[in-house]
Amino acid sequence: MRSIKFLTALLFSFLFIACATHSSGPAKVSDEKTSDSLSIHARPKLVVGIVVDQMRYDYLNRFWDKYSEDGFKRLIRGGYNFKNAHYNYMPTYTAPGHASIFTGTTPRFHGIIGNSFYDKNLGKSVVPVENDSVQPLGTKADAGKRSPKYLLATTFGDENRLATQFRGKTIGISLKDRGSVLPAGHAANAAYWFYGEDEGKFISSSYYMEDLPQWVKDFNSSGKVDDYLTTWETLYPISTYTESGPDSTKFEGNLNGKITFPYDLKKLKEDKYGYTIFIYTPQGNSLTTDFALDAIDGEALGQDEYTDVLTLSYSSPDYIGHKFGVNSKEVQDNYLRLDLEIARFLQGLDEKVGKGNYTVFLTADHAGVEVPSYLISKKIAAGYFPTKQLRKDLKEYVKNVYGVDSLISNISNSQIFFNHKEVRNHKIEISELQDEVQGFLLNYPKIAQAYTRQMLEHSSFTDDVGLRVKNGFNPKRSGDVAYVLEPGFLSYYTYGSSHGSPYTYDTHVPVIFYGKGINRGQSSGYIEITDIAPTISALLGISFPNASTGKVLSEVID
Ligand code: ZN
Ligand code: ZN
Ligand code: ZN
Repeated sequence: MRSIKFLTALLFSFLFIACATHSSGPAKVSDEKTSDSLSIHARPKLVVGIVVDQMRYDYLNRFWDKYSEDGFKRLIRGGYNFKNAHYNYMPTYTAPGHASIFTGTTPRFHGIIGNSFYDKNLGKSVVPVENDSVQPLGTKADAGKRSPKYLLATTFGDENRLATQFRGKTIGISLKDRGSVLPAGHAANAAYWFYGEDEGKFISSSYYMEDLPQWVKDFNSSGKVDDYLTTWETLYPISTYTESGPDSTKFEGNLNGKITFPYDLKKLKEDKYGYTIFIYTPQGNSLTTDFALDAIDGEALGQDEYTDVLTLSYSSPDYIGHKFGVNSKEVQDNYLRLDLEIARFLQGLDEKVGKGNYTVFLTADHAGVEVPSYLISKKIAAGYFPTKQLRKDLKEYVKNVYGVDSLISNISNSQIFFNHKEVRNHKIEISELQDEVQGFLLNYPKIAQAYTRQMLEHSSFTDDVGLRVKNGFNPKRSGDVAYVLEPGFLSYYTYGSSHGSPYTYDTHVPVIFYGKGINRGQSSGYIEITDIAPTISALLGISFPNASTGKVLSEVID
């Protein structure tokens, strides 16, 4: 007994000396160690940024017991979960959201101030991914004329292209154009989005390439879209869905008059929606997953030493939330099914790229409000704001004060745009007009705050709401006065959910990192959505996106 112990001790001392000698040995050894941890082989072969359109953080908790082991739970248990991640600007819409995740900055710097916005030079409303000078690919429809023309900053995918001498690829995928074009960025190899109507295809534009690659043509001609024209039934018996409200309520919008399960996609397609029916149903998520898995093969993503970037945005959750509201059975079922899509996609990454070779993050482009009319029915302060009426009342007020009819040219994204030519023509002091309009707005029912351009350009804000308005305000593109409604109020139908405010129900989203180079853990500390892109850039050891304002989440990466 004793001799064994003695021998073991002797062996350990020997090993200890050997190790100590080794680590304090020749310089060559330690050089190798250092360079190894920084070498290109330490980087993931593929980074995937998954965005779930309109996912509230609380969906993780609310439906937790019914999720599978291999979807959201796999990401959270094996990765790093931020429980208190927020958007740090308003308006919380899809285009600004996707731009902010991948550029690491806010509309103040990346310039995407809305899903559409008033272009002061053109004097009309524009969609920030529309571009008439490019040609559609895969369709003749104008839906294919898209590029990141209005995006002012680089994405981390752009920086990875630069860093790899354009050997690492960047591919963007979503049913929505803005969900694929903005995340992929300027130097992307491709962005693909879905055109429904009577075509049902993934399309792109001549901005990226001359012709669709064969794998995309094959996907489009495979008949897959028709295979997905199935019936949307609940995954589990609907009586077990105790985490959501009744299936039939006046707080739901409808699909061609229908608000209850089951939904017959083939019939809905033929009667009204064409292939656009997929954006309103979980089958749209399955189609997106299928296309993303084909993209990994078709583009050979994650197959060599140069890191590739895939951006993958699930759009259907947003349309389902808008239609049926965040408390609906339809939303619950969509998330239980989306969880299975996430599981299937991760499984695909394991097989195609290899476990331990890829890094994933999952987040959302904004969250969403509980249906205000439902809140009202439960005696909670909430309601609907009449933007049209405001437009009328404000124009009339300004006309009475100045005797001029045309001083307001546009109201959009909670901003008032003046007609500067008319302001000059009538020799009106611009700061006086700003103050006048601000005063009017502050006295208007259900408007909580109003900020002049003067304030947004020159003041610093200590309160979160003021700061969020400032971060969403682009000095060149934004208006002259911005306003914020009271919490729980929005301009929308009296059914279904929407988003756009600077309040937590719209800003609080999941942020989960998983895979190569990611520590396991969780945190309740406040972080911002703009922290994602710098963190991924640091993981890859590349330049940060050129206007990034976020910080590296150093607890996540080594
Ligand atoms: Zn969205
Ligand atoms: Zn329903
Ligand atoms: Zn939306």
